[in-house]
Amino acid sequence: MITLQEQLYDATELVQHARHIVALTGAGISTESGIPDFRSPGSIWQQHPPVSYHDFLHKPEARQSYWATRGSLTKRVMEARPNTAHRALVQLERRQRLLGVITQNFDGLHQDAGHLPERVIELHGTSRFAACTLCGTRSPMSDLQQRIDAGEVDPCCPQCGGFLKAATILFGQRVPARDLTRAKEICEECDLFLVIGSSLKVTPASTLPRLALKRNVPLIIVNLQPTTLDAHADVAIHEKAGIILPQLVNIL
Ligand code: NAD
Repeated sequence: MITLQEQLYDATELVQHARHIVALTGAGISTESGIPDFRSPGSIWQQHPPVSYHDFLHKPEARQSYWATRGSLTKRVMEARPNTAHRALVQLERRQRLLGVITQNFDGLHQDAGHLPERVIELHGTSRFAACTLCGTRSPMSDLQQRIDAGEVDPCCPQCGGFLKAATILFGQRVPARDLTRAKEICEECDLFLVIGSSLKVTPASTLPRLALKRNVPLIIVNLQPTTLDAHADVAIHEKAGIILPQLVNIL
C-alpha cells in the first residue's frame, strides 16, 4: 500500500511540472475555517434535508425551513477567515501556476485569501448577497439577516415583492451559463487538475474533472473521504486540505 509520504512526493512532482493548474473546491476546503460541510456525518443535511428551488418558490414551510437552517450558517460564513488551504491556492496564483479556482462554495473565502476576483468562478453563487427570486435585485446578506433576526419570517423584495433568498444556487436551480462556460473553458486549457474538499456528488461541478481526464491531464484529489473519481486520480489523498495543500505548494 502506498504511504502518505509517497503520495505527497508524487503530488508535489505533478505540481512542480504544471504551469496551468485548475482547482475545483468544495465545502471541505472551508471546514477548517469553521464552516461545516453538508454531507459529512452529523452535518446540517442529516438534520434538515436541503430545500429545492421549486419548494422554496411554492411552499411557505420550505422557506421557513430554509431560513431556520440559514441563520447559523450565515453567521459562521460572516465570521470565517481563509485557512492554510485557501492561502496555498493564492500562492499558486502568485507563482503564475494557476489558471483559476472553480468553487462550489458560496463563502467568499477564496477572494478573502487574496485571489484576483477574475480567477475565482463561484458555480453555486455567493451567500454574501441576498437576491430577489423575481427581479434579481441584490442586497447585502447582512441587511437581510438583520430583518430575519428582528423576527421577519418570509422576507420579500422591497422593489417587487418577490421572495428573497441568499444569492446561492439551490437544488433544481440552474448554474448561470456564463459561469459554467468559463469553468469548462479553463478545464480544457489546464495541465493539472486539483480537486479539494469535494465529494464530487453535485453536478455540474462533478463533471468538470472528467473534461481534463479526457485529455489525459493528471488529477490530484485531496478529500477526507473517498470520492467517485479516486480510481481515476493520479493521487488521491484522504487527509485535511489545510495540512496537505501548503506542502504541495511550498516547494515551488
Ligand atoms: P461536498 O459534497 O463537496 O462534500 C464535502 C467533502 O469535503 C466531503 O467529502 C468531506 O469528506 C470533505 N472534507 C471535509 N472537511 C475536509 C477537510 N478539512 N479537508 C479535506 N476534505 C474535507 O459538499 P457538501 O458539504 O455536501 O455541500 C454541498 C454543497 O453545498 C456544496 O457544493 C456547496 O455548494 C454548498 N456548501 C458550501 C459551503 C461553503 O461555502 N463553505 C459549506 C457547505 C455547503
